[in-house]
Formats: sequence, structure tokens, C-alpha cells
Amino acid sequence: AAMRETELKRTKTVCTYCGVGCSFEMWTRGRELLKVQPQPEAPANGISTCIKGKFGWGHINSEHRLTKPLIRENGAFREAEWEEAYALIARRFNEIREANGPDALAYIASSKCTNEEGYLMQKFARAVMGTNNIDNCSRYCQAPATESLWRTVGYGADTGSIADLAASELLIIVGSNTAESHPVIATRLKRAKKLHGQKHIVADLRKNEMAQRADMFVKPEPGTDMIWLNAVAKRIVELGRADDAFIEKSVEEYDDYVKSLEPFTMEFAQQRCGLSQDELDRIVDMVLEAKTICGIWAMGVTQHTMGSDTATALCNLLLLTGNMGGFATGGYPMRGHNNVQGASDFGCMPGRFPGYDFVTDDTVRARYEQAWGVELTTRKGLNNHEMVTHMHDGDLKALYVAGEDMGIVDSDALHVQSAFEKLEFMVVQDMFFSRTCEFADVVLPASPSVEKEGTFTNTERRIQRLYKVFEPLGDSKPDWLIHTELARAMGADWNYSHPSEIMHEAASIADMFAGVHYDRLEGFNSQQWPVAADGTSQANLYSNGQFHFENGMARFHPVHWTEPTDQPDDEYDLHLNNGRLLEHFHEGNLTDETAGIVFKIPGSFVEVSPELAAERGVKPGSIVRLVSRRGAIKASVEVTDRVAGKQMYMPMHGKKNIEAINVLTSFESDKDTDTPAYKELAVKMEILSVD
Ligand code: SF4
Repeated sequence: AAMRETELKRTKTVCTYCGVGCSFEMWTRGRELLKVQPQPEAPANGISTCIKGKFGWGHINSEHRLTKPLIRENGAFREAEWEEAYALIARRFNEIREANGPDALAYIASSKCTNEEGYLMQKFARAVMGTNNIDNCSRYCQAPATESLWRTVGYGADTGSIADLAASELLIIVGSNTAESHPVIATRLKRAKKLHGQKHIVADLRKNEMAQRADMFVKPEPGTDMIWLNAVAKRIVELGRADDAFIEKSVEEYDDYVKSLEPFTMEFAQQRCGLSQDELDRIVDMVLEAKTICGIWAMGVTQHTMGSDTATALCNLLLLTGNMGGFATGGYPMRGHNNVQGASDFGCMPGRFPGYDFVTDDTVRARYEQAWGVELTTRKGLNNHEMVTHMHDGDLKALYVAGEDMGIVDSDALHVQSAFEKLEFMVVQDMFFSRTCEFADVVLPASPSVEKEGTFTNTERRIQRLYKVFEPLGDSKPDWLIHTELARAMGADWNYSHPSEIMHEAASIADMFAGVHYDRLEGFNSQQWPVAADGTSQANLYSNGQFHFENGMARFHPVHWTEPTDQPDDEYDLHLNNGRLLEHFHEGNLTDETAGIVFKIPGSFVEVSPELAAERGVKPGSIVRLVSRRGAIKASVEVTDRVAGKQMYMPMHGKKNIEAINVLTSFESDKDTDTPAYKELAVKMEILSVD
């Protein structure tokens, strides 16, 4: 019987905001959310949550929610029924494919959607559209981190669990604003520091909260982390303090690695990173004193033209000191979105099927062809960065975007928006009318996490179930249902009636998820991949001393230094860093719907150092125009000593084109993964009003 609107309901869900993967109960009455109630049995967070998980749910019943499909007609959108929207999409995709081939179509998947939806999105791209042109926003953040781990230890994911981080003696935290971006993990680390004297080395441009509490805070020049990491490694080798026994037994390519360290002298690190000999010596000492070390890193490392190589330098250092594989050791790229790990795991990548099998592997492809009953393309697809270029070139003509506000979150936003204008047909599926929707031909109303069933995978590879708290608002639908129906409209034989059927299909094809089953994920139960057929999951990927390569050996991967792009000069004389805020999530499309959060952080701002403020004559609240080599935006000034000298900081939260940081950022990208070099950004500052 339908539950009466007055009855109290308690439903377990998983937070939709970040990769920590907090789970909790939601207490509701009708469509009203009464409270978020954490439970001790929640594996990632116990009884903790942060402000977003506790209060950031204004989007659920927001009047701004899309509740009807929209179709563009004579330059304006009108409401439509689902059948009409599906028929139009099917017709246009088929026409464009017939005229130009399937690779004229492409798909951007969402890392906020569930694993099951990610699986269907890549299946839709591959089996229905007929292309490997599919990618997700891990390309914008941790693709270089996963690349560094693929290279050195064999799986592109956190090597252990949050429990390893909490138990480690020393954390090397590079370019991660952990306290704001992964608050509940930061809470556990702060507790570890207090309870068992865990030591923290923090390297960042900005004196963030972790830096303020660190045992050692260093502020290398922008984009130079590779140099000091390698200089520390070189010194350890010179002192004869490498973990020879571990290397002998478990790591290959040592000699090449040692040779590659030659240029990274202490003098080079002092001169280019701006660190003192004292600081460097202290880092070496702390690394040598610690019995267990974990490396934590995020966008401050990856969003550079040398992102993959800098992350690799940190992985190499962990291997050099024997800190890969054992408990309380390892490499931990902090995953941003709630399901950015899962979107990649389940195949929303141009070169990989679910479970990271290569699309170019004939045996694997044959397995998918048999399971899906279609012939699949052998061509590797485009990543989202390449898609933009191909839209401009005119050979990519139709794009499907699931929930990604790509028009303002991709770098060089105006360049991306002008690429959208060149498309013949564009579909956007979202909960809100984002900036990207403005370029669409059809907009489909999607449901948020709390209106669907499914699973998310957090930063420690933990798969957790979320249960439906509310029915979808208006005519909106969960993304898995939209894809099932649209695939049918395009002639495919898809009949999923519940996400469990999708997961069980994925588990039957992809070895990595062999034993993943909804029965094993009931309530607060979870599984960490790879999951063996008997359901055994793995908290630490290499605890048996075997790395994920054929011979079980890890590999040093030598890296070489090149200078960052978009450097300051006489005209663009300031460096602008950017990142997250505790209160808001990304550009703010979700968190802008929670009144309490907007009251606290209404708009965007730029952090200016006291010395720069004095030199330029700006005060807190002054309005400035920031101009890069690509565009200009407005921001209000905050004067703070979190930043120093000519380095400024701006949150990525901001409105449309007026405040969106990516109007400024460049189209340069990491040379190995194409992750945009968001952090390599020079600007000039013009004062619009001082008071
Ligand atoms: Fe949600 Fe992350 Fe906050 Fe946990 S730490 S409540 S997952 S935003």
C-alpha cells in the first residue's frame, strides 16, 4: 500500500557530493526532508557528515528543477512529452549517423550518476550510437592520478582504504585542499594526528586548513611539485636509504629511475621551487623517519600540463621508500564527485570497457558483442578534450551530455561554448537548466540521487547502495530509465526494470565486478573492487605483495621536467589558482539551491594577499575584473594571508559566464591524459570599484 504522506520514512542513501562516500539515513515525510541521520555502521563516515551532506539538499524540491522535456523550436524552448523528445532524438541521431558515420556522435557521461547509469551510458554510446566517443569528468580531475598508478602499481585507483590513511605515520599531502574538498576524510586525519601523532607534510600554493595544522608546510612555486619530489627521492638514493629489499623483491626499472633523477638536485629544487635547503632536508628526514607513509594528492597536482608525471613522481617516491602495498601505505588520489570513480570503473571512457578492459582487445570485445548482441566498433574513441576540437573541426556533429555543465566546467569555457554552436544536434540531460542547456536542441529532465536506486563507488573503491527516498519530481526520470526508453526508441532491445538487473549484467561480463551483487550490498553493506566471484572484496589492492602486472612487480616510471604553460609576464602578471569551497559543490548548480549555503557564500570571490591588496589599493569587497589571455570575469575581493604575493585563489563556484573561472583558463592539457591545465593560469587585475 502507498505510504501515507504523513508517515515518517527512514531511507538509507549515499551522499551525492564528494568521493568520500558518506552514507546515512534520510528521515522524510512526504516530500519533506526532516533530517539527515548518520549511522555508526556507515563504512566511510560512521557518524560524521559535512555541511553539504547534512544540509545541501535544497535542490530536491527546488522550483528550478526541470520537470518536463524541452524541445528547441524557432530559437526558444517549449515543453514536450517524453515520447516526442525520444522520437526526435532517435531521428536526428540516426540521420546524422547515416550521413557521417557513428563517430560523428559523442557522449559525455555524468560522474554524479550511479554505476548502473554509467554502465548504461557507455552501453548506449557503444551499442546504440555505435561509437567509443564517450568520456566523463575524471578527465577534468584525476585522470593523471590514475595514469600514474596504472604505470607504477597497475590499477588506476586508491591503493588502499580510508582506514590506511588514518593509520599511517606520515601523510604527504600535495595539492589537495582535503579539509574543504573531502571534509570527512580530513576529520579522520585530524583525529589521527591528535590521537596517535600522525605527521603531515603539506605542499600547496595556499595555506589551506590542512596546511595550517601541518607539521611541515611548504609552498613550492606553481606547477613545480615534480622537482622537489624528485629532489627528495634523489637525496634518499644518495644517502643509501632507499628500501633496497622491497625494490629488489617488488619493483622493476630502478636503474633507469635513478638515472632520471640526475637533474633533480637540491640546488634545482631551491632555485625553481623556491624552497630552502632547510625545508628540503626536513622533508627528507620526515620521510626517512616514518615507518608507514601515504601520499594524498588532488587537482593541485593533476591539473597541469605535467599532471601525470608529477603524480608519477610521488608514486615513485612511495615505491622507493617501500610504501606501496602494505597496510597504512600507498597512493591516494582523492576522487572529487561522488561517483567519478564509478563512472570510469563502469566504462565511461573512450578506450576502456567496464572493469578497465581495453576496447582494442579482440577477446574482450567479442565478449561484449555476445552479451549485448551487437557488433562493436574497433576504433578507440575521443576523450572530452578531443571532442571539443573535433566539434570545432566540424567532424563531430551530435553530442549527448548527461548532467555535465561542460560549458562552464571545461577549461577555456568560451572556446567550448563556441564548439557547441557548431553542432548539428545536442541533447542535455540534467536536473537544472544549466549554462550548457542553453546550447541544446533537446533538454531532458533527470532525477537526483535521492529519487533513484543504484550504487555509487567512493574514492576507496567502495560500492554502496542508495535507495529511493522520494518519487521523481514532476515528469523527471532517473537517468537509467531515460536511457532504457531512449535505447528502445532507437530500436534496441533494452528491458531493464530495476538497476539491480543492470549491475548483475555488468558483473556477468566484467571480471572486476564478478561478485558484486545487490544481495551483498543490502543496507550499509558494501564491497570494494575488485570483487571476486565469491563476493570477497579488497580493502588494499596489493596487500599480498603482488602488484597488478603480469609478473607481480611494480615499476618505477622515470619522468622529465618541462616548464608549465600560461606563465605570468609583464602584462598578465598574477597567478590565479582555483579550486573547491567547503560549502559549495563545483560550479554550484546543486548547492546554489540551498538557501543557507547561498546566504553564507552568495557569489564568487578572489582571494588577494595583503601585500598585493596594499600595492594595488584594493580592499575586502572591492570589485575587480580578472583578465586572462582568453577572457575576463568579475569578482569581489577577499584579502587573506591564505595566499601570498602575486598568487591569488578563486573558487570554481561561480555564475554562468560572469563569474565562471573557466572563462579564463586555457585549453592546454596534461600531455599524457588531456586533463586541462586549469592550474596554469596567468591574469591581470583591473579595479572596477574599490569600496
Ligand atoms: Fe558528502 Fe563528502 Fe561531505 Fe561526506 S564529506 S557528507 S560525502 S560532501
